[in-house]
Amino acid sequence: MKRGFLTILLFFLIGSAWFTGSWNTEKPVEPRPTIETFRPMIHFGRTRFVLSSETRPWKEVGLLSNSMIISPEPTLIEVTYSRKGETTWQSIVANASHLPLPDQDGITEVKLSLHYPNQAAPMESRFIVAPCRDVQFQVNKISFAPGELVMIRAEYLEIGQLLTASGSWFDSDPQWFHHDGIALLLYPIPSSTQEGNYQLTLTAQNEQSINIPITVTPRNFVMQPLIVDPDVNATTRTDNSYEEFHAMLMESRTVTESLPLFEGSFQLPLDGRMTTEYGQGRTINGVPSGSRHSGYDLAAPTGTDISATQKGKVRFAGEMILTGNTIIIEHGIGIFSQYYHMDDLSVETGELVQQGEIIGTVGSTGFSTGPHLHFCIYVNGAYVDPAVFLEGSTFEWFQLLPQ
Ligand SMILES: [Zn+2]
Repeated sequence: MKRGFLTILLFFLIGSAWFTGSWNTEKPVEPRPTIETFRPMIHFGRTRFVLSSETRPWKEVGLLSNSMIISPEPTLIEVTYSRKGETTWQSIVANASHLPLPDQDGITEVKLSLHYPNQAAPMESRFIVAPCRDVQFQVNKISFAPGELVMIRAEYLEIGQLLTASGSWFDSDPQWFHHDGIALLLYPIPSSTQEGNYQLTLTAQNEQSINIPITVTPRNFVMQPLIVDPDVNATTRTDNSYEEFHAMLMESRTVTESLPLFEGSFQLPLDGRMTTEYGQGRTINGVPSGSRHSGYDLAAPTGTDISATQKGKVRFAGEMILTGNTIIIEHGIGIFSQYYHMDDLSVETGELVQQGEIIGTVGSTGFSTGPHLHFCIYVNGAYVDPAVFLEGSTFEWFQLLPQ
């Protein structure tokens, strides 16, 4: 209101100066604005808006009117926002203070129809606004159990603006997935992470870093003694077999879609008896294995059908010395499900599979003590607890991605 008043005053002073020259010639003073000469003024300040990084506050505080003055104030404003000719927001508001900031950075065309008393038709005004907010980060939560997933969403990215993330609990080179001014990152908390306080540092190019405190809660994993046929152990767990396996993983996990290939939660690939849980440590024939179990072992009779946990693309289907008949399915945004020790494989590398589609059968191939499926999920450098993906609430997050 105050700025509105000042603008009117300024207008008046300029007007007075203009007419000073004719003051002494006794020419009649110009009348006050009439219907024909009535022209509301709209003025913008700077169009850079910096918002908090913790919430999504633009609806509450990011008002376009923070930098806009309409004088005189109309009694009613019809508003249309559009981007590339498509309407993105439309409303009738009582005054300029009810105009929200467009919900995306970049160019938005604004059309205002200003209604004034005693004016037969509304005054039309068209202009563009191009807000440029600092990147805003959201995190799904700040306290995690080992095996869970930190999900980070970034908004208001400029074209080509780079993002980096680093968590003090796990040295990963995580891949962000960009889509139309939004980016998503999944940052795992590996099962080996000790309880404690950590820090997640997020940086958008040319902007200040943001540090988010992350707490990892304790989780006790039960040790499991495993007795394996010494011959199987000696032939399947060799330098060669590990090298072959890791080379296959490197190759099959390099390509991933930038949007999820799925909607909703994942499902168990079969209805089996859980013999080893996620994160369990093991001794193999009395010797500590030195690693934690990367997923679920689900025991079932040889020949039991195994289905795809979720829609995705088969990135590998073949035989490995270590894991026997193996399948890797990619689900987009860096999520891979993996299936080991299978008997039959009924899909091929490159195939698109639907959730629940049969991909093969239970076996005991590779380093295995009996018929079972080893099922695990890999994201950005670590195996995460499959439970995270079997729970529906995880995917409320993915719904925030543009469709
Ligand atoms: Zn296993």
